[in-house]
Amino acid sequence: MNLLTDRWMPVIRQNGQPDIIAPWQIAETDNPAIEINAPRPDFQGALYQFLIGLLQTCFAPEDEDQWLEYWQEMPEPEELQACFEKVAFAFELDAEEGPAFLQDFNLPDGETKTISALLIEAPGGKTLKDNLDHFIKRGRVNQLCPSCSATALFTLQTNAPSGGVGHRVGLRGGGPLTTLIFPKASLANLWQKLWLNVLNQEELEPAGKIDSSILPWLGKTRVSDKGQITSPSDVHPLHAYWGMPRRIRLTTKCRNDVCDLCGRSAEVLYQKFRTKNYGTNYDGAWLHPLTPYRFDLKKVNLPLSLKGQQGGLGYRHWLGLTLQDNDNGDKASKTVQFYNEERGRILKDNGSASLWCFGYDMDNMKARCWYESRFPVFYLSELQRNNLTDWAGELVNAAKETVKMLRSEVKSAWFRRPEDSKGDMSQIDAQFWQATEADFYRLLEQLAKLPADMRMAPSEIYASWYEALRKQVFQVFETATLASTPEDLDLRRIVNAQKALRGKFYGNKTIKALKAKATPEEEV
Ligand SMILES: [Zn+2]
Repeated sequence: MNLLTDRWMPVIRQNGQPDIIAPWQIAETDNPAIEINAPRPDFQGALYQFLIGLLQTCFAPEDEDQWLEYWQEMPEPEELQACFEKVAFAFELDAEEGPAFLQDFNLPDGETKTISALLIEAPGGKTLKDNLDHFIKRGRVNQLCPSCSATALFTLQTNAPSGGVGHRVGLRGGGPLTTLIFPKASLANLWQKLWLNVLNQEELEPAGKIDSSILPWLGKTRVSDKGQITSPSDVHPLHAYWGMPRRIRLTTKCRNDVCDLCGRSAEVLYQKFRTKNYGTNYDGAWLHPLTPYRFDLKKVNLPLSLKGQQGGLGYRHWLGLTLQDNDNGDKASKTVQFYNEERGRILKDNGSASLWCFGYDMDNMKARCWYESRFPVFYLSELQRNNLTDWAGELVNAAKETVKMLRSEVKSAWFRRPEDSKGDMSQIDAQFWQATEADFYRLLEQLAKLPADMRMAPSEIYASWYEALRKQVFQVFETATLASTPEDLDLRRIVNAQKALRGKFYGNKTIKALKAKATPEEEV
């Protein structure tokens, strides 16, 4: 199968019908594709990134004016088809030898694995032994169609966790977050959803010749058996979209059967692949354009990609994912920054956009689960953006302080010796974050509308947030403590903890500061 000329990509068309298309058909105007229709959520994210990477590599607009032309009117399908055809030689999935998509150029020996091991949550040897394979039951995925195999390859190579000695992690580290700008307008087609995330050539160096510095499988693998690293200066910047840390070659096939993942029948299906360690070891200051990073505030360590989190993604991550969090150095991805500073202008009067954020929560080599969230984004002037960063930071900090007190007092209510208990309190945190989320976004929306010359946010905002925190901290506490089973219930301990929580909340410095700002000046 050729990934640029054959039809393999599952989509939904405007009339709601599913279809299978070749990538260039995203530009068809008659009943256009409006969404990807992958069989799994991680594949959905992978196919988006495949198409964005493809457009960025083969069809990047010269400047923002050209970007806008294609935003207003998508290219002719034939134009895109001709453009993709020029690099089709690099996108064969299957080849006896030489280049094959995201596979090692030359891998004569290695360990043979069943195809299900391409899936990121696939149980490894130890998991199988411990009988812990919740995600995929062993023996359930034995053969994959070319479409699922290609998507699984991309998903693994772009998210690769550490996989044992010499099995390298992805270019963004294991299980990075990806953030894509998503048009809010319900009629947006797939082309627009992708195009919003493609940078112009002034922002990202265009491809000259398509070779292994961009698509690493076109040449011999930059191996790491002697500790060699591959840093950004060793390859082309577009390499970031096509990182290939794992040495893999699809091998054993069967014919005319049904795919164990998507359920479609295929002429050829893959059952096994060959793999070997010491593939490319990405190191250095890599910055993937679609991923937010944490920058070391002391500028000593390299930027680290933000990862999926146990407990999920919520408004406490909003600043770092969409703008920048000055407390911890988290900063939005390059494409999101560009949207904030320039491109957002286009959508401002046009239904605006949101941020789609997704990734695995990895526990070292194991995928615990898959997270995705939508966040609001705002196109603002620089002054407004700075204001919003400060104000949102204040609100989130007050909430973080509150959740700390809540967690500690729920623990005191639950356990006779809270300091010794190692109970998981993340449920309590999650309840509090969830209970205050709607209020946060409501206030954020109001803050984003304020004029740039407004230095102080209005006192009503602070008052409203103070009330939300006060109400929810006691409510979540009560639900958590009174929901205990009667034999565990020690009323005196609960009442004491509640009293302590009151004392802490009303006496807290951050909360007091919030309360002070909540009081209009003339009343002070
Ligand atoms: Zn399939």
